[in-house]
Amino acid sequence: MPGECDVLIVGGGPAGLAAAEAAARLGARTILLERQSEIGYPVHTSGGSWISDMKALAIPENLYHPVTRVIFVSPHREVPLYYNPAVACVLDVRGVYQHLAGRAVAAGASLRMRHTAEQTIVENGRVLGVTAKNHVSERISVRASMTIDASGFSRHVGVRTQMGQAFHRYGYGAEYDLYAPNYPQDELFLIMGSQFAPRGYAWAFPRGNGRVRLGVGVLHPDCDDDARVYLDRIVYDLPQLSDKFKDASPVEYHTGLFPSEGPLERFSRDGLLLAGDAGGHGSTLVGEGIRFAIYSGQMAGTIAAEAVKSGDTSAAFLGRFDKMWRARFGRDMDIAYMINKRIASYSDEQWDGALDLMKRLTPVQIAQALRGDFSVGLVMGVLARNPGLIATGGKKFLDVLLERIHKSTLQTTEG
Ligand SMILES: Cc1cc2nc3c(=O)[nH]c(=O)nc-3n(C[C@H](O)[C@H](O)[C@H](O)COP(=O)(O)OP(=O)(O)OC[C@H]3O[C@@H](n4cnc5c(N)ncnc54)[C@H](O)[C@@H]3O)c2cc1C
Repeated sequence: MPGECDVLIVGGGPAGLAAAEAAARLGARTILLERQSEIGYPVHTSGGSWISDMKALAIPENLYHPVTRVIFVSPHREVPLYYNPAVACVLDVRGVYQHLAGRAVAAGASLRMRHTAEQTIVENGRVLGVTAKNHVSERISVRASMTIDASGFSRHVGVRTQMGQAFHRYGYGAEYDLYAPNYPQDELFLIMGSQFAPRGYAWAFPRGNGRVRLGVGVLHPDCDDDARVYLDRIVYDLPQLSDKFKDASPVEYHTGLFPSEGPLERFSRDGLLLAGDAGGHGSTLVGEGIRFAIYSGQMAGTIAAEAVKSGDTSAAFLGRFDKMWRARFGRDMDIAYMINKRIASYSDEQWDGALDLMKRLTPVQIAQALRGDFSVGLVMGVLARNPGLIATGGKKFLDVLLERIHKSTLQTTEG
């Protein structure tokens, strides 16, 4: 097992696997270290995503389950939306991650299971790989021209190289993956309100073959409630779900942490890139990060391999990763974070009001907002249907929103 490589990736989640494929495809000798024994296990995500992105990322259709009904619930409101054809889907998470792993291996990457990165090797201010504990508990060094931190919430290399602190604000989610024979497999629920998920939301995500993920996520330190307690109550507390989960039983139990701080200021330094959750590259709007992790990993893997090829792994060269990511996602992620901070403290009455607003939007507009595609067109379209928004206290927020969109349009044009 050679200890030297061109691109070393820490973490075998969607960001790391996509980075491994992209780097290896460009001819870089690529090694990925994953601390778990299997790719895609344990599952720590609900797998909600979008069909257009799965197609763009060439994920096979049998690895995601389309949903045609999306139902929003607040304490005293319910908004059902119909999409035909379906736009949203629920992933076979393990299947998708293993598929990405297969693609990385086919491109020439080498994946090392049960290898935990420990120390970072830094020489003259340049990151040159990591030390790791391997599957037989030996301590090894893996030296590399380029390192990509794709370790998700632990941001393992980043926090050891002054590329960001450990996350302070995060969503904690607990979820049952049930066999639920009476649950309609085309219906996805998003549930808000203090009774179900204070400072967060609950969900029911069908994923085909009678299986449903039922979960609750809450934001810390915005509140210190325990999502697990709310999870055990929700089927009894929410009449819309009681019948649907009749005769159901959990088959798996998942927990996970999602960073809710927005993107880091910088994702690159000499010899190092941060991709996926480690860089804060997911959308904090609804805690969605899988497709964003794949896109971010692809960019990081490509730029790392180009840096190696050009013999320049300096922060100056690698800064093109920051630029590329911000040009594509910066505006939408900043806005998602602005909105997340605003809605995180919504009262039950405010959630009811938000669902009243939703009733006045088209299903397409709602999907676009949920996806986090915050174009001027979307904001103007929402205002056209709700001119009252400007008068009812939302004006200051809308001003900031439009200014942010305008600024990013100028930056992109100048770039
Ligand atoms: C409860 C919950 C529900 C969610 N639901 C959704 C959803 O419905 N849709 C969606 O798109 N997103 C969802 N997300 C977010 C999504 O899971 C993440 O954004 C996504 O997993 C980020 O991918 P990543 O590759 O950056 O990190 P991860 O998926 O966290 O992968 C990081 C990998 O690094 C490994 N690792 C960590 N430290 C080390 C180390 N020292 N050495 C070696 N390996 C290491 C880990 O074992 C892991 O495999 C959810 C998150 C949570 C917590």
